[in-house]
Amino acid sequence: MLPAEVLARAGDEMLDWHGTGMCVMEMSHRGKEFMGIAAEAEADLRDLLSIPPGYKLLFLQGGATLQFAQVPMNLLHGKGKADYVLTGEWSKKAIKEAKNYCDAAVAASSEDRKFTYAPKQWKVRPDAAYVHFCSNETIGGVEFHEVPSASIPLVADASSHFLSRPMDVSKFALIYAGAQKNAGPAGLTFVIVREDLLGKAEKRTPSVMDYKLQADADSMLNTPPTYSMYIAGLVFKWLKQQGGLSSIERKNIEKAKLLYDYLDSSAFFKNPVAREDRSRMNVPFTLKDSSLDGAFLKGAEERGMVQLKGHRSVGGMRASIYNAMPIEGVRRLVEYMKEFEQRHG
Ligand SMILES: *Cc1c(COP(=O)(O)O)cnc(C)c1O
Repeated sequence: MLPAEVLARAGDEMLDWHGTGMCVMEMSHRGKEFMGIAAEAEADLRDLLSIPPGYKLLFLQGGATLQFAQVPMNLLHGKGKADYVLTGEWSKKAIKEAKNYCDAAVAASSEDRKFTYAPKQWKVRPDAAYVHFCSNETIGGVEFHEVPSASIPLVADASSHFLSRPMDVSKFALIYAGAQKNAGPAGLTFVIVREDLLGKAEKRTPSVMDYKLQADADSMLNTPPTYSMYIAGLVFKWLKQQGGLSSIERKNIEKAKLLYDYLDSSAFFKNPVAREDRSRMNVPFTLKDSSLDGAFLKGAEERGMVQLKGHRSVGGMRASIYNAMPIEGVRRLVEYMKEFEQRHG
């Protein structure tokens, strides 16, 4: 979901942005209007996350999936080795891609318990260039609630909980996130990277994939995803109006608690994730009898609740309760689940 206020404002500004007679999509990315939009989006995001000095904030394309390759291309620094924490579908993909570029070893894994927890003990190789983890596994619903400490540079795929809570950026070498889960439209990827790590990309890295070249060009080495940046900028303003990330975090905790408390009290629905590692954003759950999945989804849709089907790799259901989902939406889901349990339990 995107905040309704953001969509309404984008609608109002569609044909004429601030009296310019132009839609944002029609602006030159070098013109003063769009340069202003981009600068404001960057300033607001820096402010929201309290990004410390010494970090570059890039607005890129290619999604988090491209970062699976772009991170090793830029951060290996000739070491040829990187470590990865394996916690589910997304980190698995990151590792597979990294293997095209380096010796990628698994520093910790939760595969022994079907990816239902966040491993805290990591074995990193001191000569590896960095250690990568997925700070919120979207499909499995597993979230690291503390930033792990690492003796080598720490890299996080934060796609699905980016801007859902404050983050201590200073503990990371690099954080990346595709915008479309929680922060805006598809087509835009955020990269926050420590400046001293830039400028050592592997030979033959395409220019648009070299963080240093993008940083030097203010993420405009070529035409950036202008409309996605504009919408993300409106989402940042909305977040600031909500009181910033600490305030949105409180709401997210409340929303998640409502759903998990019900799941734990129910003998009909179940969430498999270790309590302390449960995601506040993505809540997978299964029904006691999976042959009722279709009926559950159909009833949900009739009540206006959509996109509850779990990922094909794990089955069951998944409620994604991102920032823009109001608590009333979660209440309505829980009410429906209770009703369903009474009828079929
Ligand atoms: C969705 C997702 C991705 C992939 O994002 P794309 O933008 O589609 O490439 C990667 N990592 C995580 C954690 C995700 O949730």
